Amino acid sequence: MPSESNQRKRVLSGMRPTGKLHLGNYVGALQNWVGMQDQYECFFCVVDWHALTTDYADTSQVKPNSIEVLLDWLAAGLDPERCTMFLQSHVPLHAELHLLFSMITPLGWLERVPTYKEQRENITDKDLSTYGFLGYPVLQAADILIYKGDFVPVGEDQVPHVELTREIARRFNNFYSFNGRSLFPEPQPLLTPTPKLPGTDGRKMSKSYGNTIMLTDPEPVVRQKLKTMVTDPARVRRSDPGNPDLCPVGDLHKIFSDRTTLAKVNEGCRSAGIGCIECKGWAADALVNILNPMQERRKKYEDNPRLAWDILEAGSARASKVAGATMNEVRDAMGMSLEYEAPRAPQATK
Ligand code: SF4
Repeated sequence: MPSESNQRKRVLSGMRPTGKLHLGNYVGALQNWVGMQDQYECFFCVVDWHALTTDYADTSQVKPNSIEVLLDWLAAGLDPERCTMFLQSHVPLHAELHLLFSMITPLGWLERVPTYKEQRENITDKDLSTYGFLGYPVLQAADILIYKGDFVPVGEDQVPHVELTREIARRFNNFYSFNGRSLFPEPQPLLTPTPKLPGTDGRKMSKSYGNTIMLTDPEPVVRQKLKTMVTDPARVRRSDPGNPDLCPVGDLHKIFSDRTTLAKVNEGCRSAGIGCIECKGWAADALVNILNPMQERRKKYEDNPRLAWDILEAGSARASKVAGATMNEVRDAMGMSLEYEAPRAPQATK
């Protein structure tokens, strides 16, 4: 079945509500999403249940964080007229499909997911030996397949998750069919460019490292953060030539600066013709240029959060309709229809 009458392929993606987003989130996902809105039929989900897989002991921030994420989506340019933004827990059918998928998913498939092992080893301040944490890729499969997503935009590290979703779809299709055909398409990963975005200390930008530039940082904060950002360690004195390819500020220029600035940085850094302070000022200019319009858009919703909430509710209603149609087929295929069927009366004998 084509995913939509206008034949646009359907894209499904989600983001955990971890609070306000930073430039790394923007460059790694959000910027790509914004560009996909017209090419694909996009469903973007704030996956608040996924937040519970690690933050189950204190759930107080899940809802406020969900709204912050939505505000940043809107700020970045996701448009409710061109895509569907919704809250996972407001489409409870995801949980039903998760349950049904959990019946057919072998444990071994989940235990071998690379991020499962990795996170259990790295996150030591939480007990992740829970059923929910092991099963989160099954929930992810439900999130995608309930919309019969054609594509899932991911970076390289997320490809195994999409592969698991494909395996679950295949297994379901092997066991059950709907009107004699396979019910679920096997979604493809849509590999999106995720340029290396360093934080202010040169490591990957991440909230846990405290090295982020937030989408909501006002101009003076952005400029201050840039001032203290690490540079090419070989450039100790102003007269030492540097190499922008070995400098986190150089990486920022590659992503955000125009060609003329980039050429000035390349030439000036290598010949020691410019100082790092000047160069960082140009990088800050480029960031402020991108962040200012976002912050203006965000303000409209910050002043009236109800507007944002209404967008989420309308999106959740739209998503529920699509999810509901899929679930009718799933229940039918599995012989679990909600329709009442009278038991057959025994044939009368003459
Ligand atoms: S001039 Fe710019 S690119 Fe070169 S080391 Fe300094 S901050 Fe980095």
